[in-house]
Parts: sequence; structure tokens; C-alpha cells
Amino acid sequence: MRVTSKAKKRLRARGAIGGLGGLGALGALGVIGITAGMTACSSSVDTPAPQVANGTTATLALLETTDIHTNLLSYDYYKLAEDKSLGLERTATLIAAARKEFPNTLLLDDGDTIQGTALADYQAQVAPIDCKTTLGVYKVMNLLKYDAGTIGNHEFNYGLPFLAQVTGSAFDVPNMSPVASQPACAGPNFPLVLSNVLGAKSQQPIFKPYTILERTLSATTPDGKTVTAPVKIGVIGFTPPAIMAWDKRWLDGNVYTQGLVESASKYVPEMKAKGAQIIVAMSHGGLDNSAYSPSMENGSYYLSKVPGVDAMLIGHSHQVFPDKNSTVTQFNLPGVDKVKGTVNGVPTVMANFWGKHLGVIKLALNYTNGTWTVDRNASTAEARSIQNADNSYVAVDPAISQAIAAEHAATINYVKTPIGTTDFRMTTYFADVGDVSAIEIVNQAQAAYVQDYINANLPQYAGIPVLSVSAPFKSGFGGGNDFTDVAQGNVAINNAADLYLYPNTIYAVKVTGADLKAWLETAAKRFNKIDPANTAAQALVSTYPGYNFDMVTSKDFSYEIDVTQAVGSRIRNLKYQGAAISDTQSFIVATNNYRASGGGNFPGLDGSKTIYASPDASRDVLIAYIKKVQAIKAASNGSDRSWRFTKVATAGPVTFKAAPNLGALAQANGITNVSQLQADDGTGKGLAVYAVNLNQ
Ligand code: MN
Ligand code: MG
Repeated sequence: MRVTSKAKKRLRARGAIGGLGGLGALGALGVIGITAGMTACSSSVDTPAPQVANGTTATLALLETTDIHTNLLSYDYYKLAEDKSLGLERTATLIAAARKEFPNTLLLDDGDTIQGTALADYQAQVAPIDCKTTLGVYKVMNLLKYDAGTIGNHEFNYGLPFLAQVTGSAFDVPNMSPVASQPACAGPNFPLVLSNVLGAKSQQPIFKPYTILERTLSATTPDGKTVTAPVKIGVIGFTPPAIMAWDKRWLDGNVYTQGLVESASKYVPEMKAKGAQIIVAMSHGGLDNSAYSPSMENGSYYLSKVPGVDAMLIGHSHQVFPDKNSTVTQFNLPGVDKVKGTVNGVPTVMANFWGKHLGVIKLALNYTNGTWTVDRNASTAEARSIQNADNSYVAVDPAISQAIAAEHAATINYVKTPIGTTDFRMTTYFADVGDVSAIEIVNQAQAAYVQDYINANLPQYAGIPVLSVSAPFKSGFGGGNDFTDVAQGNVAINNAADLYLYPNTIYAVKVTGADLKAWLETAAKRFNKIDPANTAAQALVSTYPGYNFDMVTSKDFSYEIDVTQAVGSRIRNLKYQGAAISDTQSFIVATNNYRASGGGNFPGLDGSKTIYASPDASRDVLIAYIKKVQAIKAASNGSDRSWRFTKVATAGPVTFKAAPNLGALAQANGITNVSQLQADDGTGKGLAVYAVNLNQ
């Protein structure tokens, strides 16, 4: 029964071990980390299960991290500065506390794990790690003794071969070598499961769809004695089917997805048949109660209705659940209890992002007639913040920074590489009200790159105007530190990464004037509808993400956004070189793979309009452009505002949030119609409230 670790890894990757109760034996081999709170049981093949009395109860605490995005330390690689509001080194302290508090715990990760910081990009793209090296984030997670994890959409950003390597997997997909010849690489010491991404030819999940964790519970008998009792917990994973559009360049032809309901309906009964007594669904996706579709991005609402699902760990939306004060649409749907933390009765948690929270579901278990069942009414959920009530933060676990010190230092060294200078401060604090200081350079780089490519390779498109769109990727969602901010002076790689956050590639699409108008109308969802007669304060910015607020910044192009109008009727006076744009006029627009392939659901942008899908990273194109320009200047690279709000007098203030005390910066960048109302908005996130005068 003993197998070498290497052979075991290959077997596991091929699904040969699958979720077959053989995990008890693997646990005994010490391959799977023994949790601090629960002992991994030894091989139960020859040992009869101990007698557990009917009516015995136990509490199983499911601890969730999600959307860590390789934020291991409380550190911002773009600003080269500490940021205590994030980092797994602080979540680790909450994990340790929960393990002390509860005798029975499982630590589970809900995906979007390997991408999201400069450290992640460094290990994947700048100095790609070799097969024998454990990826930094998994090294830290091994240290924290995770029990299992699933795969988010961003795990696919660096391609399938890299994902196979760093997860210690072999993928049976057309564009990779046969599974038997793929090397057994270093991966995490805990199982990664994903049920709804399948090989195009094999028609089998590329990861193990689920695993069954055999553990020993500390339990209480009806007469109050503390006993130990075995339990089998089935853990299954899901990722958003929309990965097929978002990472089309890697996935097309290699894999396909299944709907969450379809995959769960197949595997939950299979897990039950193999002895799983409790089913935990790790779903990298939020809640959406619009009509069910197997391709829907946030299918967890319907997943909760699949019989047998006992608990859900959800994510992807970067939100907190439960939260009694939540105004987020998905947590105010019928059947969703945002106080108790249930979705259609199923205990559920979403632990925010970047390690800001730890999700905790306290599953109340009853032993009846030979099996454990979940008492939903007695189960509770909570999301615990790394921020204390007094706005300070919990201490770090020093073991994390020790473990990742070399990778951290190498990343800092890399991001300090100089590439040019700027004569102005490039920021997104006021991007929602017209500042393009951090956006125009990106659009210039993208447009120049696409124009050069067309000139050299696509003569059929010569003469069609080339525009570019980009967006304020960092626009305060995560608080006052979550903005792009490049100081005047030297520009280094970290600044380019701050200006271009994502590991996207450049795509060019051919659109009509009508398409372009519809594109900008969709982007203008960024704004709430403002009633000019309302004397109360009205928030200008909606929950629509900043990274979808695409804008053109070009001397040749101009338009207005009329926020007094409904979504879809806001773009006015759209002009190219001073003349109104007709619906049938043609344009080439430089954008990224995400947008061109359907990301954000922009009308008509479904991949069919792509004329060039470049393999070049958007950020590399930006870096090359800055190296060429050398001296970035406000006059030529940061002040071409193509859009303005349609002027309107409002009876009350129109407000938005940004980091505090930046009035002088706004003035310097030509945003003269804003004023700070409150230096602290009271959320503890380092945000101030500003007013914008729409009549100026
Ligand atoms: Mn995420
Ligand atoms: Mg995600």
C-alpha cells in the first residue's frame, strides 16, 4: 500500500486515486498535512469503526480563505510599502485562533490563489519557477496546513502547463504532452479539487473533482462525555464557467466547462456512495438568482439547491458574507439570510479577498443511525476581519514572512528596475470624475502597439482609425490604498504594474460607431442615475467595477456622459476629429483579451470582433512604450480628457470616495470641480468623501 510521494502525486493527478476513501491511507503517509485541530485518521481498512452512540453531537468549523491572489504579506509591491489591511500573514493569526477555539477544524481555500501580486507574476512570468520548486503561495499554504482547496478563474491566467506544474498535476488536454510523459512537479501538500473543468478529448475533469477527507472528531455523547469519532467529509470544487471566455487563449480546444448544478448532481451522489457523510462545496463564484444556465458566472445560488450540499464556501465576488449590513445585491436575494449566513438554508460564507477576512462556518453535526448529519438550524457562519474594532489590525504570523523571504526580496528587486521618468503624479483617485493621469499612457501604449501591428501585418485595416480603451483598474474598492499612484520622478517596473494591474494580453477589435457607443454606454454603468432636483447627497459611483469603466483618452475623440439619464442613454456628442460619429463608421479599438472575449458582458464583444489576439502582455507593451518615451510628460501623456460629464446643476451634493486630503492633486491634474466633504467616511477603509460639481 505504500507508494512514493512522486508516484502518488502522479496517480492523484490522473485521478487514479481520485476521491476514493484511499485518502485515509494517504493521510497516514503524512502526505496530507495533519491539521492542528483534528487528527488525520490512520488507515481504517482493517480497523472496525468505533461505536458512536446515537445523539452524539460535534461542531465542525470550516475555515475559509478565498481570493488570496498571492497576497501573502501585508505588503503592496506597487507602492513598495507595507499595507496592514491585507495579507495571509495576518489571516494566519485568525486561523491559529480558530484552531484553538474549535476542537474540529478544516482549513479550505476557495481559489484565485496563484495570481494577483507582483510576486505571483515574478514567479510565473519574469523568472518562472522550475518543476522542483514549490510556488510561493503553496509553500505558505503548506505551512498553514490547509486541508484542501479549489481552483478559481485566475488560476488559468498563466496557462494550463504552468497550472499543471505548480499544482503538481498532469492534465490530459490536447495541447499538452501525454499525461504519462508530464513531469511530477512540486505542488501543494494538500488536495486541490475541481469538478467542472474537463479535458476536451478525455471528457474527464482535469483535476480530481472531489476528495473525501477522513478525520477524527472530538464529539459529545448524549450523557455529556467527550469522545472521538470518525467522520468522512466530501469536499468538491467549482470554478466560473466564464473562464472559457476570459482565458480563451489558453483554454480554447483544450478544456470545456460544465454547469455547477450538472457537476454537483453527478458527483455529490458519487461522494455519498463512497461514504462521504458531509458534503462541503467550495465554489469560486457568488450568488445570482437570474435563470439558471450552465455557463453562468455566479452559480452558487443554484448549487445550494442541489440535494446533499451541506455547506458552501463561496468567493470570486470579493465580498463579505454573512454581513447583516450588506447592501450587495447578491446577499439580498430571496432565500439568502445575510445575518445568519445561509443560502436556501445551506450554511455559507464568503471571506472577502486578499486575506482580509477568514470565513468560519460552525457546522452542527448529529450522529444518527450510523452517520453524521448537519443540523442546519444549529449551524452558524461568520466572516472574521483581520481589522480590529478599533481599526488596528491583528498581528502577523512571523513564520509566513520567514518562509517567503527569498521570493519577496527577489520580487522587490525586480519591480525596482527603472524604465523612465514622469513629470507628473499619475493616479486614479479622481479617474471617476475625469482624471486620466494614470490611464492615457496605457491607451497610448496599446494604440501604438496595435497601429504598428496593423501597418506591418494587416494591410486590409490600414486607414481605419485606431483607438484604445483602458480603465481605472484600481479605484478604491479595497479602500484608500487601492488606487494607482505613481509619484513624479523615476518610473520603475512596479509603477508600470501599478498602471496596468492584470496579466492581460493585448487584443484589437474592429467595431462600428454604434458598437463603440454601446461599449461606452456599458462602461457608464459606473455611475448612478443622478436626480438634479434631489437636495440630499447622491453617490455618483455605483457598484459597477472600476475595471469595467473603459474610457478613450485621445485628442481626436470626445464624448459626454450624462449621469441624469438612465443606463444606455448617457453617451452624448460622440465625436471623432470634431465630427459626429455615424453608426456605421469603422474603428479599430485596442483593448485586452478579457474585454475582447466577453469579459464584463459588453454588447457584441464576444470574441467575434477580434482582428488581432496578441500574445504580448499588456503590461510588457506598456513597459516597452515607457522605455521608448523615456520622459513621460503631463502635457503629452496624461491630460487628454476625451470625456466629460454633461453639465447639470444639482440641488444637492454629488459625492464620491477617494483617499483623503488630495484636493491639491486634483487641481494639479486639472480636476477643478471637486472638494472634500469628509476626511473619513467612517468605514475604516481610509476613504474620504468628496463632492463633484457637475455644473463646472
Ligand atoms: Mn478573485
Ligand atoms: Mg475570481
